[in-house]
Amino acid sequence: AKSSGRNNYTFYTPDMSKAISRRLQLENGLLRALKNGEFIVQYQPKIHLETGEISGAEALLRWNHPELGLVPPNEFIPIAEETGLIIPIGEWVLKTSCMQSKIWQKSGLLPINLALNVSYQQLKTRNFILSIQQALAESGLDPQFLELEITESMLREAGELKIVLDALRPIGIKLAIDDFGVGYSSLSMLQYVDINNLKIDMSLIKDIPESTKAEAIAKTIIELGKNLNCTITAEGVETKEQFDFLKKNNCHFGQGYLFSRPLDGSDFEKLLRNWRKD
Ligand code: C2E
Ligand code: CA
Ligand code: CA
Ligand code: CA
Repeated sequence: AKSSGRNNYTFYTPDMSKAISRRLQLENGLLRALKNGEFIVQYQPKIHLETGEISGAEALLRWNHPELGLVPPNEFIPIAEETGLIIPIGEWVLKTSCMQSKIWQKSGLLPINLALNVSYQQLKTRNFILSIQQALAESGLDPQFLELEITESMLREAGELKIVLDALRPIGIKLAIDDFGVGYSSLSMLQYVDINNLKIDMSLIKDIPESTKAEAIAKTIIELGKNLNCTITAEGVETKEQFDFLKKNNCHFGQGYLFSRPLDGSDFEKLLRNWRKD
């Protein structure tokens, strides 16, 4: 056995200091990334399960870091949220993806829904509503095609957010609850906000069809959506079995690697053009 020496009491292991310096590198790089155009938006199709058509796209942010390569959002978005940089970054995503969506329409493609992830920090800024209106006006995108995804845990602050969420209504955009089924909010929160779409978290989809419990939960959420008069989207659909189950149980939309990974704007446009022509 290894001798348990002084090293047991050393707080910073090499791995930890590596993680800390990476974090600092990310933290210090965020502002530069925004200025230098290191961010990329990718788009993942959302499929209408009954017809198999692409009904929308979710915009997903990526950071092409000059030294570290592609940094996933789960790693840098929390830092952007802590530092407040999520606000200008989020505005950039909003503008970029609204413009992109309008470019697809101008090139003759049928309009599809554009779904954006928004952080709590963004929603509670004074200018949030204004920045949505500006992005719509500048791009010429019809508000009915824009959907904002907020997470279930943000609904805990629904009292505070209600003013913002209510102010979004007259603009005519849609609202979705992301990662539904794993958050901490109670269902009662759904009474106070008008939701167009519930997105079932992928952790609940992944065990279908092996787990009858996972299936029961998914069915219940689909039923809940029906009763609340909102559509349901299943996230993380990776297999034909999951697709068949969801379709059979009248889940409206699906997103996942079975259909496509998130793609750069130009590849997504190709996907839209060639979808189901083969
Ligand atoms: P999310 O909103 O829940 O997005 C779904 C994530 O699942 C994406 O990861 C997507 O690439 C991934 N995914 C899609 N289909 C499958 C599948 O079939 N299997 C598996 N295993 N994964 C799948 P991604 O792009 O790494 O984004 C992670 C999270 O980062 C997002 O989770 C969202 O919370 C956040 N995020 C991404 N872009 C933005 C943004 O512009 N603003 C904010 N505030 N958050 C963002
Ligand atoms: Ca999302
Ligand atoms: Ca999600
Ligand atoms: Ca998530």
